[in-house]
Amino acid sequence: MNKDTMNGDNEKPLAKITCSSYDCERDLHCFRRRRPRKQSYRSEICVACGAQMVEWQRLDNHDLIDVENTFKSLERELIRHHFWHKTFDEKALKHAKGQGFVGLRQRAENRLRSCLRKPSSENSWDGRQTPLEGNVIYYAQHATATCCRKCAEIWHGFDREKQLTGDEFEYMLELVMRYIYKRLPDLPPVGPKARPQIARNRILE
Ligand SMILES: [Zn+2]
Ligand SMILES: [Zn+2]
Repeated sequence: MNKDTMNGDNEKPLAKITCSSYDCERDLHCFRRRRPRKQSYRSEICVACGAQMVEWQRLDNHDLIDVENTFKSLERELIRHHFWHKTFDEKALKHAKGQGFVGLRQRAENRLRSCLRKPSSENSWDGRQTPLEGNVIYYAQHATATCCRKCAEIWHGFDREKQLTGDEFEYMLELVMRYIYKRLPDLPPVGPKARPQIARNRILE
């Protein structure tokens, strides 16, 4: 099997991993409630084994000082763990080097705004709008649960039917950028392909 279909650390082939996957024996769980209707997608315990290992209230503080705990908690879910460790594909890496942190931040901001702006019920693509490869921002979104309104509801407690606030967008943007910084610490601040305009500091709705 080539490296594009396997994880960096010899996990299952990508095709078999979805938001509902779990492998509790390897301590990789799933916190997505099945068909929740009006309830939240968040299951406080693993839907497969019942393990209770995430301090949800602590995560819901959205405190970036505690971001390491947030990241560690995200890694307890199989799908997030996969994207925390998956080797970046070549296209994604080339794009990231061309953009640098400033360019990526600007693009991540646009990306989050376009894919998370609508409530879940008004977006028939919700849950499918973020590709699995081709851009480090996509990897970051799956890893930090900012890929769709359902994952953001599970992990960040943002009601999938409510309009997100500027602060909520900004928190998720920060998670995406910190993921990229952790995984690609040697990227240039500004890449040769970054647009000359300086990225805005805040997400304006
Ligand atoms: Zn489990
Ligand atoms: Zn998602």
